[in-house]
Amino acid sequence: MPSYQADSKLQSEPPAALVVHCGDHRFQGAFQEFLNRQLGFGGNYDLFVVPGGPQSLTLVEYLPKFSWASWRWFRFFVENHEIERLILIQHEDCAWYKSLPLHLHSASEPRQRQEEDLRKLGQTLRKDFPQLRLELYFAAWDGKEHGSIEFLPLTM
Ligand SMILES: [Zn+2]
Repeated sequence: MPSYQADSKLQSEPPAALVVHCGDHRFQGAFQEFLNRQLGFGGNYDLFVVPGGPQSLTLVEYLPKFSWASWRWFRFFVENHEIERLILIQHEDCAWYKSLPLHLHSASEPRQRQEEDLRKLGQTLRKDFPQLRLELYFAAWDGKEHGSIEFLPLTM
């Protein structure tokens, strides 16, 4: 395997934001495009990627150890990288949600469960990190093979 010289250079400015989203391969290109093209981050953002994305920060009662680790990693970025803006993204057809028991949410419809988590988490973050500018998005997929992905802002 030959070495590879990256065109991208080391970022020296503070990150434009901390972004939390799922690691599902089908959405990574769309996530990057949205963050860099629409939000204008130019590749300069901290990224916290786990299955289910922001859902990892809501697991206090159901999976307390996962929740503890997720908050620790989250706080690490916020406290060490002068984070002022936070982007939380959920995506359509998230397999992580299919692995969760239904009793964790008030609805059974996957998108409603995801939006419920985003809003609940948003309220917690507003209280615990009032200095952060918070944005919530849902990446909606039109359901077609090679289909379109649209980023919809959510209000809290
Ligand atoms: Zn997912």
